[in-house]
Amino acid sequence: MKFFFRVIVIGATVFFCCGCAMGGSGSRENASAGGAGDLEGQASGHTWQNAAGMQNDTAAGQDRETARQYVDTAMGTVIQQTVYASEDAASDFFERSKALLTGLEQEELSWRLDTSQVWRVNAAAGSEEGCGVSEELAALLQECLELYGRSGGAFDITLGPLTRLWDIDKWAAGGADDEEGFRPPSAEELEDALRLCGSDRVRIVSPSSEGEETKIFLPEGMQLDLGAVGKGLALSRIGSMLEEGEGISGAVISLGGSILTFGGKPDGSSWKVGIVNPFDTSSNVGILSLEGQWCVSTSGDYERYVEADGVRYHHILDPATGYPAVSKVRGVTVLAKDGLLSDGLSTACFLLGTDRGMKLAEEYDVEVLFVMSDGSIVMSEGMEPYFTKL
Ligand code: AMP
Ligand code: MG
Repeated sequence: MKFFFRVIVIGATVFFCCGCAMGGSGSRENASAGGAGDLEGQASGHTWQNAAGMQNDTAAGQDRETARQYVDTAMGTVIQQTVYASEDAASDFFERSKALLTGLEQEELSWRLDTSQVWRVNAAAGSEEGCGVSEELAALLQECLELYGRSGGAFDITLGPLTRLWDIDKWAAGGADDEEGFRPPSAEELEDALRLCGSDRVRIVSPSSEGEETKIFLPEGMQLDLGAVGKGLALSRIGSMLEEGEGISGAVISLGGSILTFGGKPDGSSWKVGIVNPFDTSSNVGILSLEGQWCVSTSGDYERYVEADGVRYHHILDPATGYPAVSKVRGVTVLAKDGLLSDGLSTACFLLGTDRGMKLAEEYDVEVLFVMSDGSIVMSEGMEPYFTKL
């Protein structure tokens, strides 16, 4: 993987300087800022930022009020950050957040890298010893199992055998019409993979004495896939870094389909986060106006998919059938204080649809907005004050 990155002071135009060369699972690159209006971010979106609302006087003495932008790749996707800070504070933050993301992927979440805990948990599937993990990873897995139960099994982090069978990671970022060599798995292959899945068979065993690690036991053949929560978790950790750090008065961080807002803008106006239009992903169906710290995640059938013989296969799989979920929903956006919740619940609510999804969102005390396949928008009451339709 090759990175090009630099800090940009926002002027009258937006610059994107991502020159990433990613293997396999890259998600869409946000290629242009055109068409987004005065937005700081777009949940799961392409266009991300318009400099108009962020221009600042760069004269001495106003340094902390300058918006500095940084674009890079991390965790197999594009990360875009805008922070209001002095150049030194911004550079320091960019470096530290980059290290955090790299560490999270390489040491905790990746199923491809043999340096990560998830890789080791998967490799130990079927063993009697299980696999020791950090408290953080154990807590994450516990929350995912909880969501499995509360979503009636729709949200399931043990779908690794299935996501690999479909080869989702290889699908072109943003979707491809006719991926070369793609063929949907056979019913038999799907059945075999599904037999290996099911979060109810994951065991998390707390240490019996001090100094021991929590152990994870997977049945043979089971493989974890944390693709539905990794970006949100990363944003929550970056949020903690921002809370503890000094010198940054406001920030917007976009990672894949999730966005974190933090603090405020020098002019006191709210953050504007666009919600992508699933029917035309270069536009938005509306805008969320947010103040302070929030996480916004979007899941949709347009984010990663392949088309073959006129059928679109998307990346959110129904554990009951093994196929991409058949849904009247095209996109779901969740607004929460925590990134793990916004990310996990946007995936879960996509699978559950409006009625059950809305109930689940209420249980978790988060707000949700559905863009339906007939173009209508359905949202929780608590989302309404934040949302402006375009
Ligand atoms: P997201 O874009 O956050 O909605 O997450 C989608 C990703 O989660 C997919 O690319 C898979 O890696 C994984 N995934 C697919 N189906 C499910 C599911 N039913 N439960 C949990 N994770 C899933
Ligand atoms: Mg998700």
